[in-house]
Amino acid sequence: MPTTDRLDDFLPQPRVAYFSMEIGLANDIPTYSGGLGVLAGDTLRTAADMSLPMVAVTLVSRAGHFRQEIDAQGRQIEHADPWDPSQHAARLNAAVALNLEGRQVWVGGWLYVVRSRHNGAVPVLLLDTDMPVNHAEDREITHYLYGGDETYRIKQEVVLGAGGVAMLQALGFKLMGYHMNEGHSAFLTLALLRRFAYPAEDLRPGESPYNLPRVRDLCTFTTHTPVEAGHDQFSYELVQRVYGDLLDLATVRQLAGADRLNMTRLALNLSEYVNGVAKRHAETSRRMFPGYAVHAVTNGVHSSTWTSRHLGAVYDQHVPGWCHEPELLSRADRIPDDLLWAAHAEARRDLVERVARLTGVALDPERPILGLARRVTAYKRHNLLFTDPARLRAIAERHPFQVVMAGKAHPRDQGGKRLIEELHAHMRELHGSIPMAYLPDYDMDLALALVSGSDVWLNTPLRPLEASGTSGMKAAFNGVPQLSVLDGWWVEGCIEGVTGWAIGADDANANGGDAASLYDKLERVVLPLWHGDRAGWVAVMKGALSKNAAYFNSHRMMRRYATEAYLR
Ligand SMILES: *Cc1c(COP(=O)(O)O)cnc(C)c1O
Repeated sequence: MPTTDRLDDFLPQPRVAYFSMEIGLANDIPTYSGGLGVLAGDTLRTAADMSLPMVAVTLVSRAGHFRQEIDAQGRQIEHADPWDPSQHAARLNAAVALNLEGRQVWVGGWLYVVRSRHNGAVPVLLLDTDMPVNHAEDREITHYLYGGDETYRIKQEVVLGAGGVAMLQALGFKLMGYHMNEGHSAFLTLALLRRFAYPAEDLRPGESPYNLPRVRDLCTFTTHTPVEAGHDQFSYELVQRVYGDLLDLATVRQLAGADRLNMTRLALNLSEYVNGVAKRHAETSRRMFPGYAVHAVTNGVHSSTWTSRHLGAVYDQHVPGWCHEPELLSRADRIPDDLLWAAHAEARRDLVERVARLTGVALDPERPILGLARRVTAYKRHNLLFTDPARLRAIAERHPFQVVMAGKAHPRDQGGKRLIEELHAHMRELHGSIPMAYLPDYDMDLALALVSGSDVWLNTPLRPLEASGTSGMKAAFNGVPQLSVLDGWWVEGCIEGVTGWAIGADDANANGGDAASLYDKLERVVLPLWHGDRAGWVAVMKGALSKNAAYFNSHRMMRRYATEAYLR
């Protein structure tokens, strides 16, 4: 376990501070809920590999996300999933005070260190208000990830942004930049405006004290949300009540919106470098926010984290250096077909065993598996596959396959929970025709088992709502091709029949034809190839590896952030 002493190791070198409301640090630290957090974790794992000078800031989220159980009717049952930071991190010898709702709130924290097998390390500050000096209510501000009402939410965001900036300063970090992973941390810009304000005696009457260019030059903002309604907004009445001392309100209104404080606007107006997480998503963001230069840095995933040990052993032998330099996987055609296929069969067998252990469902280890797993919410359309159960059954009669699913719905997302029940109803309806299982408690560990043990990775979001998507990239690292709607990263990653296959047209208004297209592809292309042409199938596996894992990795992503955003 790291000790506070080691904090000193991180202080001399100037760093980029990376702020994220959630970070998937490790499978047994439940401080993430989905793709945003897992991406943040991959960002830090890669920064550690590359010895990029970074420091991350997040909330400790002691109460975790939740552990999911599913009953016989397919109803999600949520169990608390608390964790004990003292088992994984060292207490920081510092605390900073904020004024929230007129009370002083002390923010302490923990040091967690992300270590690379290549010797690099990145410190992570887990901010924590659970201190005896605080009012009972305030001790819980950093407990619940995305929990509570909007008052709770804004307090969390003030602790993250303003508390984070103050904590970095109190600890003595030297900072060369600030990177906001999504708008939750945008209050950091206001804290910096105040920090770098000109002294009153240097100002002419009526002149603003705020040095906008200086703050803007320090900030980078990555947006992840392709719909206006998804961006956090707070009424100024609430902002004033909770965080009244922030700046003068006229300035904040100019920067964050006249009617409501929009965290995305605030981040956009105070960041020199702004990007979306895929080319298509950057286009969507430019339309949503005209007048801002929104770059595209397409997401990537962390090589060794997302490759099963079976495949990893084969790459070590035939593509040495692939972990640290994933672009070497462009040489994947050097791997003998039978070795690649045998390693994949091992990963599939592991998944089949796990399905049996967790659900009692006996899958056939020799039959292709369609895998689909992600946060369950309406736009992800987990149910698209079941649009026409009779047709699905007919396809399975001619070209047998099996389905493994997983995913949690946010406790307040009633639509998502109904979707899980609906999926279970379809499983019962198709029982005897198509072997199917729904694995409970989707997490990073289960994600690796699914993306490596499936034969086809299925993704069916409603366009244009998938900003990027990353699970299909994880599949690519395991030689598993994706069958997906053309949205997010797949617009760039899909080469039809080479890296996988597209569902529907590349047209944001074509969502209606997706089910028919999915069935046609499965029936005429994907399943016949799997059953009838092993060499042809392995060629697509190699296409996924050599064209997609070689590119959609977080090493490429971090080199771009470093050269274009951090060192601009
Ligand atoms: C990768 C991952 C996600 C994100 O997957 P998407 O395809 O982007 O939805 C969500 N949850 C977990 C546990 C993951 O590992």
